[in-house]
Amino acid sequence: MHIRENESLRDRNSFGFDIRAEYFCSASSIDEVKEALAWQQSKNLQLLVLGGGSNTVFTRNVSGLVLHLAIDNLAAKTSGDTVSVAVGAGINWHSLVKSTVFNGHYGLENLALIPGNAGAAPIQNIGAYGKEVCDNLESVEVIHRTTGEQLTLSNTECQFGYRHSLFKTPKGSDFIVLGINLELSTIDDPVVTYDALANKDPTAKQVFQQVCVIRSSKLPDPSVIGNAGSFFKNPIVPRLQVDALRDEYPSLPVYLQSDGSCKLPAAWLIDQAGWKGHRIDGVGVHDKQALVLVNHGTGNGQQIAILANEIRTDIKNRYNIELEREPVIY
Ligand SMILES: Cc1cc2nc3c(=O)[nH]c(=O)nc-3n(C[C@H](O)[C@H](O)[C@H](O)COP(=O)(O)OP(=O)(O)OC[C@H]3O[C@@H](n4cnc5c(N)ncnc54)[C@H](O)[C@@H]3O)c2cc1C
Repeated sequence: MHIRENESLRDRNSFGFDIRAEYFCSASSIDEVKEALAWQQSKNLQLLVLGGGSNTVFTRNVSGLVLHLAIDNLAAKTSGDTVSVAVGAGINWHSLVKSTVFNGHYGLENLALIPGNAGAAPIQNIGAYGKEVCDNLESVEVIHRTTGEQLTLSNTECQFGYRHSLFKTPKGSDFIVLGINLELSTIDDPVVTYDALANKDPTAKQVFQQVCVIRSSKLPDPSVIGNAGSFFKNPIVPRLQVDALRDEYPSLPVYLQSDGSCKLPAAWLIDQAGWKGHRIDGVGVHDKQALVLVNHGTGNGQQIAILANEIRTDIKNRYNIELEREPVIY
């Protein structure tokens, strides 16, 4: 384990903000994670766990230790139609999706091209195009950051919800994900509930390819223009409030939920409010995707945080809806 001082995190966050970690260490095994935690505790330093940095907004230099999870084990075991796949936290998510789908192990195809690493996937229960990682997650391997206790948390124990999990609660935020255990299938029967995928009874490989095409055409590539994907969750609001809003905004798209509440597209609300393409200093709202805040090259995390707050306040004032942020702000 090698601990580096005053390390630049510019290439380790998808906004490309030029901030520094007081100490940085990349752990490629569970023993190295334990070693890093022991060192951090002996020095009484703060700890920040980092994967691919694609859901993180750095507003300042990070004091203490940034622990990058680089554990990269990958093993699949087939039993009948079921394929159990153990994945280290440091495996790149999209590479994992691609390799499973092209090995005939299906289930992750809808989640192609989501940036970041496997260890972060359960944190916000990543989802896209009709699926969430919890649909194929059997359990999560964790270590407690202070006690060092190692546990296997079942899918139910992880308390998954829409962009939510135990790991986002005070009770679960002390766990570091070491790996995830997926349950995939050899049966090629993809989920095609999302309109753009539903046209032709596609195979899982076709869904994978279609998702890649749609995403590449719709979302800005962070290597070209810094961003963290969708900045706000789609708000879920009571039916009565939506009926009132529809009187004023008849074209408001509404997705009815099983409990009778309604999910509204945050992108539509922000777009209607005129934010698309808006710029403040070196940051702004993407000119084609109102839900994506971008770094035009000279921006910083504080400017992103200010812009996000301005949008939230405006949406609250216009529609009486509280937008919830998706990325983590440090
Ligand atoms: C262009 C773009 C498109 C995106 N599209 C989607 C999408 O369609 N759906 C979606 O759900 N998300 C999407 N995202 C968000 C992002 O890709 C996911 O949230 C991803 O899971 C983040 O992974 P990461 O490794 O980069 O996490 P990081 O940014 O490194 O970390 C995110 C949070 O998780 C914590 N964390 C990371 N690893 C661990 C670990 N091993 N143990 C404990 N805590 C950990 C960090 O401390 C931090 O709080 C998109 C982002 C971008 C830039």
